[in-house]
Amino acid sequence: MPAPVPTPTIFADAIFHYAVEQSAIAISITDQHANILYVNPAFCAITGYAAHEVVGHKQSLLSYKSTPKVVYQELWGALKKGRSWTGRLLNRRRDGSPYVAELTVTPLKTPEHEDEDINYLGMHWDATEEHRLSRQLANHKQLIESVISVAPVAVALLDVDGRVVLDNPAYKRIVAEMKVDEPAHAVIESLRHNLGDSFEKAFASRRALLNQEVRFDRAGGEPRWYACSLSWFEEHHTSPDAFYGDGCSDYMLLVMHDISASKRQQEALRLAAMRAMLSEGELNQSLREALAGAVFQLQGPVNLISAAAGLQRRRAGPGAGSDPLARALSEAQRAGEEAIATLQAAMPPEPEEPSGPVNLNEVLRDVLMLETDALLSAGITVDWHPAHVLPTVQGDPTALRTLFRQLVSNAIEAMNVRGWKERALVLRTSTQNGQVDVEVTDTGPGIPEALRLKVFEPFFSTKKARAAGRGVGLSLAQEIVNPPSRHARDRP
Ligand code: FAD
Repeated sequence: MPAPVPTPTIFADAIFHYAVEQSAIAISITDQHANILYVNPAFCAITGYAAHEVVGHKQSLLSYKSTPKVVYQELWGALKKGRSWTGRLLNRRRDGSPYVAELTVTPLKTPEHEDEDINYLGMHWDATEEHRLSRQLANHKQLIESVISVAPVAVALLDVDGRVVLDNPAYKRIVAEMKVDEPAHAVIESLRHNLGDSFEKAFASRRALLNQEVRFDRAGGEPRWYACSLSWFEEHHTSPDAFYGDGCSDYMLLVMHDISASKRQQEALRLAAMRAMLSEGELNQSLREALAGAVFQLQGPVNLISAAAGLQRRRAGPGAGSDPLARALSEAQRAGEEAIATLQAAMPPEPEEPSGPVNLNEVLRDVLMLETDALLSAGITVDWHPAHVLPTVQGDPTALRTLFRQLVSNAIEAMNVRGWKERALVLRTSTQNGQVDVEVTDTGPGIPEALRLKVFEPFFSTKKARAAGRGVGLSLAQEIVNPPSRHARDRP
């Protein structure tokens, strides 16, 4: 005999019953006073109570008595308005242990009692572990944030577009003190320029760059040095569409450690060594200038004598050897040439420093330190406007120091005249397309238009008094900027 076919309503009721019974979520149904009428097996599994121990009792049986009253007021407030409510409560299991319940309560409306709530449906699950993990995450985040915020190093996190998405108070202090919009960008630009290819390779392969020194200059203050480290980290996307995918974003972490104190000590030592070297160098330089002046002065008469000797030899013809005037002139020519050769041989050799990367802010600060006494005694104020971060240029640091020292001492000399009122020296550095511009301006009388090219000629001076070396400074400065080729320099 075939089994009786259940009517559709009975069949659906049975399915719903099994679904509720087998659900992994704790389900309870109460009357309008929260007296429990039904609980499913998951409810029993989570709370530890058997169904007969709770049916007929109030839902408050589960309360751990530490959930704030206001939460229950919200819950009941929503139910009384016919709405459902979802939130977290602290519940007590049968064995007295607490657990976090994520609960949704809903008024159950039946077609027969449309206007009044007869029953309530409660569904909850044990959210203790999820709560523990999210609290742990929040604690870790807070711990990391407080470590980063009190850390003596500046930290900035940049996204792939170079936007700073997170920074700490030490980083904000750099922004305020150095008056630079985004120090991170200045650091990256400086590293890109100074490291060239190796920066690009590290950047492309997301390799860390550690302890790279970057110098920051500012108007009216000491420079600052930072040991900078760049590292990368990958953030996995949290959006649902990345659940099975591997979407992630790269972030760049910049850590800047202020090493100015130790750098200043090193600088003081370097400056002392440089002063010692300079006084020896200056002695040699003035000797070179005096000897070059003497050679220059001697060369004219010797040229005249050689021309006269040649003329006399040609006049005397074959008997020139016995002609007393021709012999005397040749003797004078030889003596003159010998004197020039002796002076040239006595000239101290030019010191050759290997060319390397030079920071012109550093060079200009050195020059200002060296000229401090002269500037003070002439009552000259200095307006120093350095570019915050300057790319290095290839050059000989000593020669570049000599160049700018010459310009500064010329400016001091030009303004330090009796009755001259405006005495200011402006030094400015800036960058444009990787090129470094240096501006040295003084408020002296300036060089007359007609002499602006002439002042670069050797031994030309606008000053009347003739002193050893007078008039060679600018020609030397020009030689440093546009050095004659070695071949041309070595030609006699
Ligand atoms: P109570 O005096 O019971 O309630 C505190 C406040 O809630 C009161 O001041 C009052 O404003 C309001 N309130 C209580 N009962 C009513 C009511 N019948 N009508 C209007 N307002 C009312 N609580 C839990 O702690 N854990 C649970 O898992 C839980 N599940 C629930 C499931 C359902 C389906 C329902 C309807 C309620 C559930 N509750 C649950 C709430 C529970 O009924 C109690 O309100 C709560 O436990 C607080 O109990 P109490 O004795 O501390 O305070």
